[in-house]
Amino acid sequence: MKWKKQLAGMKAYQPGKSIDDVKKMYGLSSITKLASNENPLGTSPKVPQFIEDHGINFARYPDGYSGALRKDLAEHLQVSEKQLLFGNGSDEIILIISRALLQPGVNTVMATPTFPQYRHNAQIEGAEVREVELIDGHHDLEGMLKQIDEQTSVVWLCSPNNPTGNLIQQAKLDEFISSVSPEVLIVLDEAYFEYVTDTEYRNAIDYLQTYKNVVVLRTFSKAYGLAAFRVGYAIGNEELIANLDPLREPFNNTSLSQGAASAALSDQAFIEQCRAENKQGINLFESFCLKHNLFIYPSQGNFVLINIKTDSDKVFEELMKKGFIVRSGNALGVPGFIRITVGSIDQNTELIEKLEKILIELGVIHE
Ligand SMILES: *Cc1c(COP(=O)(O)O)cnc(C)c1O
Repeated sequence: MKWKKQLAGMKAYQPGKSIDDVKKMYGLSSITKLASNENPLGTSPKVPQFIEDHGINFARYPDGYSGALRKDLAEHLQVSEKQLLFGNGSDEIILIISRALLQPGVNTVMATPTFPQYRHNAQIEGAEVREVELIDGHHDLEGMLKQIDEQTSVVWLCSPNNPTGNLIQQAKLDEFISSVSPEVLIVLDEAYFEYVTDTEYRNAIDYLQTYKNVVVLRTFSKAYGLAAFRVGYAIGNEELIANLDPLREPFNNTSLSQGAASAALSDQAFIEQCRAENKQGINLFESFCLKHNLFIYPSQGNFVLINIKTDSDKVFEELMKKGFIVRSGNALGVPGFIRITVGSIDQNTELIEKLEKILIELGVIHE
């Protein structure tokens, strides 16, 4: 058959081991999964309340415009309703942008390592992928600027960056955005926006007034604790959003997920609590690393990337035997590191105890 050439050798997304798999493999009764940056505190109690209170008519299609959620979110963000595009997770927004702007003959610029879906979708569309190495965990914006030419159609920025957690510095971002041609779309993926505590951080939505080629991505999957519901969104100027909208599937967010997202959005006190508890967790990981002279990136997300100075897969496996699932740096393009989602206070404390033991046994650190 006449497959697209670029699909040759492409692999499907490899989900991590499931909690049930690991339980069986190691005969464990409880497992803590700190691998996918999900919210350890779950979601706002308003979400289960909403689900209990509101019957959904299963036979009817959902509102394809996500009208009620759109109204709530526009009000919350102080943008117009037409500035929003909803996706089945922001993963789908990445797909929509790629489908709209990438094709053979054009190129797309991104950092490495960063969120792998930018590259994956660009490959499917047959665009040339130009990856620019991070410098100390930071986007090399000057290096990225140099990679942009007449054939560049999309630049991807991820802030805080997954997997390093670094925030792009505000002044550098200002300069970068003003230097890029208005014919190039700049995607600013802020999946961890709600966790940011850096006071210098300005709302990226402010860029949209001045720059018609900027689009901001956010999601209900991380701080809002709704990863299972698949609701992400783009914020851009109205014309840009109108151009992307025809690529969206007509009913890409279910009735239940739209309602759940609205309910979660209405509880900002919960988000504040998550942000504060997450910050405490990061502090805990930082003191552990300081104590043992291990390098940890300064994270503004809900995960930390730690240099464990030995084989990542080994530490990953040893932690799994002790009931904790994290991500091995080998799978993320950062060998020698592990990425840990910040858990609840108890989960963090317990994981650090286990990690300390493992690293002592491996001779990486000393008591
Ligand atoms: C988790 C994540 C996403 C995807 O989120 P969904 O809305 O669940 O699809 C996008 N970008 C980054 C950087 C992420 O870490």
